[in-house]
Amino acid sequence: MQLEDRIKKVKEVIKQWKKEGLTVGFIPTMGYLHEGHESLIKKASEENDRVIVSIFVNPIQFGPNEDLENYPKDLDRDTTLCLNAGADLIFNPDKEEMYFDDFCTIVNMNGLTENLCGKSRPSHFAGVCTVVSKLFNIVTPDKAYFGQKDAQQLAVIKRMVRDLSIDVEIVGCSIIREEDGLAKSSRNTYLSKEERIAAIVLNKSLKLAKESLEKGERSSNNIINSIKNTIDSEKLAKIDYIQVVDALSMENIQEIKGPTLIAIAIYIGKTRLIDNFTFKM
Ligand code: AMP
Repeated sequence: MQLEDRIKKVKEVIKQWKKEGLTVGFIPTMGYLHEGHESLIKKASEENDRVIVSIFVNPIQFGPNEDLENYPKDLDRDTTLCLNAGADLIFNPDKEEMYFDDFCTIVNMNGLTENLCGKSRPSHFAGVCTVVSKLFNIVTPDKAYFGQKDAQQLAVIKRMVRDLSIDVEIVGCSIIREEDGLAKSSRNTYLSKEERIAAIVLNKSLKLAKESLEKGERSSNNIINSIKNTIDSEKLAKIDYIQVVDALSMENIQEIKGPTLIAIAIYIGKTRLIDNFTFKM
């Protein structure tokens, strides 16, 4: 497996692979990899001849008071995980390699990005769309893998690829969870022992909501209230949002009629965690 930090070098490697007729799968990440990322890499290595993982903590998708400076890093551990999961190349550029001093192009999306995480993180998806389109231009993958854990991001990337006619297939992958249901996340490492126990409330609240949907509940307000009551029972938890949205448009809905995303963002202490599920009737 190769480790590269230069755009030019990565393009050369890929050019050679393409010349040989090999297909390329791509997984963009911010590093500090866990079994969630691993499942994406494994899927990509099953479905492609070559697999590239990018590790880049993208500064422009973080807001001013977010955790950019403290975001966890462990390149040695990430390298071992990538190697064992079947990756062929890690692209690990620094900030200067990705954003020149006079970098001034932003890929901005209206709609889809204004609700949910976009509400509390207003510049987040412009940062995501910009870095992902730049990475797509560097890697030119046949398929790119994104987790359903970041459901809004997955919807945004699918739309961006469609709108800009980018020649890549976007593959959505299921959420990988800890044994107690907490979605795996690099940010889980911020949690103290007490907070880690409290964080179980995210998945617990969604499970109860899913059960009531399965029993026939169709009112978004009732679903939101049930989730709110469960979250409020945990004193370390503070709600950022609880929303019931159309799974394609990300717009709020009152009555659940078609594919629906039920998504939450909760602070446990200072750590913001997200979780979701999609309900299909
Ligand atoms: P990140 O490094 O957090 O930017 O995540 C990189 C990719 O891994 C994104 O497409 C995430 O949705 C995906 N991912 C992160 N955590 C999980 C998880 N627990 N299960 C599945 N995919 C995940």
